[in-house]
Amino acid sequence: MTGGVVSSLGKGIIASSLARLLLSRGYRVTIQKFDPYINIDPGTLNPYEHGECYVTVDGHEADLDLGHYERFTNIQTTRANNVTTGRIYQSVIDKERRGDYLGKTVQIIPHITDEIKRNVKLLGNTGDYDFVITEIGGTVGDIESTPFLEAVRQLRWELGRNALCVHLTYVPYLKAAKELKTKPTQHSVKMLQQVGIQPDVLVLRTEKEIPPNMLRKVAQFCNVSPEAVTQSLDVPTIYQVPLMMHAQKLDEIVLEKMGVPYEGEPDLKRWNNFLDKLKSAEKVVRIGLVGKYVELQDAYKSINESLSHAATYCDRRLKLEYIHSEKLTNSNVDERLRGLDGVIIAPGFGQRGIEGKFVALKWCREHDIPTLGICLGMQCMVIEFARNVLGLPEANSTEMNPHTPDNVIDLMEEQKSVSNMGGTMRLGAYECVLLPDSKAAEAYGTTTVKERHRHRFEFNSDYRDRFEAAGMKCVGENPATHLVEVVELPDHRWFVGTQYHPEYSSTVLDPNPLFISFLNAAITYGAEQGHDDNN
Ligand code: GLN
Repeated sequence: MTGGVVSSLGKGIIASSLARLLLSRGYRVTIQKFDPYINIDPGTLNPYEHGECYVTVDGHEADLDLGHYERFTNIQTTRANNVTTGRIYQSVIDKERRGDYLGKTVQIIPHITDEIKRNVKLLGNTGDYDFVITEIGGTVGDIESTPFLEAVRQLRWELGRNALCVHLTYVPYLKAAKELKTKPTQHSVKMLQQVGIQPDVLVLRTEKEIPPNMLRKVAQFCNVSPEAVTQSLDVPTIYQVPLMMHAQKLDEIVLEKMGVPYEGEPDLKRWNNFLDKLKSAEKVVRIGLVGKYVELQDAYKSINESLSHAATYCDRRLKLEYIHSEKLTNSNVDERLRGLDGVIIAPGFGQRGIEGKFVALKWCREHDIPTLGICLGMQCMVIEFARNVLGLPEANSTEMNPHTPDNVIDLMEEQKSVSNMGGTMRLGAYECVLLPDSKAAEAYGTTTVKERHRHRFEFNSDYRDRFEAAGMKCVGENPATHLVEVVELPDHRWFVGTQYHPEYSSTVLDPNPLFISFLNAAITYGAEQGHDDNN
C-alpha cells in the first residue's frame, strides 16, 4: 500500500480495513509498516514529531499505525511489523562489518533494496499468513521513500500475481470553483508509474462524494480498471471504513486480482454489533484526560480509542475532555474537573506539566471520583499520596528530582547501568499477579494478566509498608521481580493506577476490561452526582 499527494490520508486505516475484511472472510492476515525515517524506531521521538509511540507485546517501540492494525484485526504485532530506514541500514552496515559482502561495493541497489525485500517477506515466510499487507510510509515522490518503492517494483516482478499495489490519494474539493479535482491523483499515479509501479487499485480519499463519471475518468487516465477505483469518504468513525470499503467491493477486487477464489460475504456480525452500539448510544459519559499534549490529537491515540471501545460496550457516547496539566492549579481545578464522571492521568516523561497532575489527583482523591492513572499517571498517584497523606512534602520520582529525600518512585535497578536512550526502557508485555479482592482483579475477572510496559522508573518498595498502612495498596506485582505494577485506594469507589499501559491491548472486538470497569464506575458516579448524561 502506497500513498500519494499528501500525508495523513489514513493509509493505516485503509490497510487495517482491508485486513479486517480479509480476516472476516477467514483468511490469515497481518499488516506491517515501513517508515522511511532514519531513527531505528520511534521510541526516541516526542509526540510532536510522530504522535503516540505504540508498544508491541515483544517490546518494540512502534509507529502508532500498529495500534490501528491491532485494534482492527485483533492480531498482535511484533518487531517484524514495523521497520524503518534506520533498521534497514543498520542491518546492512552490520553485515558489511561482519564481512558478508567481502570484496563488494555495498550500494543502495541492490543491498538496501534486498534488505527491504527480505523484511517485506519475513512475516510471509513464517507460513502463518495468507496475506501480508505492507504499508509504505510517506508519500510517493519523497526522496526518502525511493528505495522502498524500488523494492516494491522488484517484488512485483518476483511475486507476479501474488503481489498487488493499492495506492491511496487525495481528491481535494475547491470551494470557490465548487469542484472536486482529480489532477493531483493523476500526477501521483504518474509518479508511481515513473518508478515502474502500476497501481492495481486506487483509493481516493475525499471529503465530498466523487461522482461515478469522475471515478471512470481517473480509471482511464491511470490505467486502472474502473471497478478498482474506489473512494474513501469522510465518515463519523474510522471503524466504519471497513464497511464503506466493502460496499465498494475492495476485498473482492483484491481477491480477484490476486486470483484467490472466494465466495459469499465476510462475516462482520460482531463488527456490525459494535458499530450499531456506537451509533445508537445516546447517553454520554464524560471523561477528563489530564496530560501535557492536549493540543495533539495523536499523542494519546490508544487511550482515546480504548475509552471509545469501552464507552461503546457500556452503551455510552464518549465525551473526552483534554485537560492541560500545565494550566491546572489549585484555584481552577474545581471548575475544570467538576462535572466529569471520571478522570485519567496520562503517561509521560519529564517535569513539564507534572505539578498539574498532582493538583488533579489530590482533587480526584478528595472528591472520590473514579480515577485511572497510567504509567507516569500511576507514579503521580503514588507521589501525590506520599506528599499529602504520608506527610512527605518533598516526595518525588528521581526522574523529576534526583536528589529528593523521599524517592517513592525510583529508577529500576536494571536501568542503572543503561546509558543509551533508544530501546532500553522496560518494554513489552510482562505478567502481573493481582490480589483477588482488588478492583483490578474484579475488572479482569482473573488474577493473572499480561500487559505492556514502557518505563524506566518504578514504585520504590522500601516505602510499601507505609503506603499500605495509610490506605494505598499495592495490588498487582510482577511475579518474577516483585515490581509493583498496580496500586489502588480500596476505600475509594475506583482509584487505580497501573504501571503498565492497558490502552495498548484494547481492540474493537476485545475491549480492555480495566477501561470497561473504569467507565462503569464513572457512569455510576455520574448518575449519583446527577450529572446531565444527555449532552
Ligand atoms: N517517565 C516514567 C518512566 O520512565 C513513565 C513513563 C510512561 O509514562 N510511559 O518510568
